[in-house]
Amino acid sequence: MTDGDGNCLFCAIVARDVPADVVLETEASLAFRDINAQAPTHVLVIPKTHQPHVAALAEHEPAALADLMACAAAVADAEGLDGHYRLVFNTGSQVGQSVFHVHGHVLGGRPMGWPPG
Ligand code: 5GP
Ligand code: ZN
Repeated sequence: MTDGDGNCLFCAIVARDVPADVVLETEASLAFRDINAQAPTHVLVIPKTHQPHVAALAEHEPAALADLMACAAAVADAEGLDGHYRLVFNTGSQVGQSVFHVHGHVLGGRPMGWPPG
């Protein structure tokens, strides 16, 4: 699957049909601030192609997943997080995935507890 179903919010952000506060872009990935930030840094990193979750991206487009991970690390550096950040891929509605275009949450800038809620 390379395209969304025409009704995907994050595909619309990639197409610039929906505005977003973009912080970084690579050939294969886009990083933009979460509209409902849960930490001083809360940036979403997404592949430009549509896959529903990170396992599907790993299976079908491993090079895009590698680019996404590098993009997340570059965002953390650019945000001055000095190697201290959390990278979260909620996978499945029961654990909180609400947008079914794979996205990593880059979270940092405050102390965080473990285990997560
Ligand atoms: P999930 O719950 O799927 O792991 O994460 C989806 C994230 O997308 C949420 O943190 C939510 O705040 C964010 N989000 C939802 N709609 C928009 C939007 O239109 N723009 C931006 N920048 N973030 C969004
Ligand atoms: Zn999509």
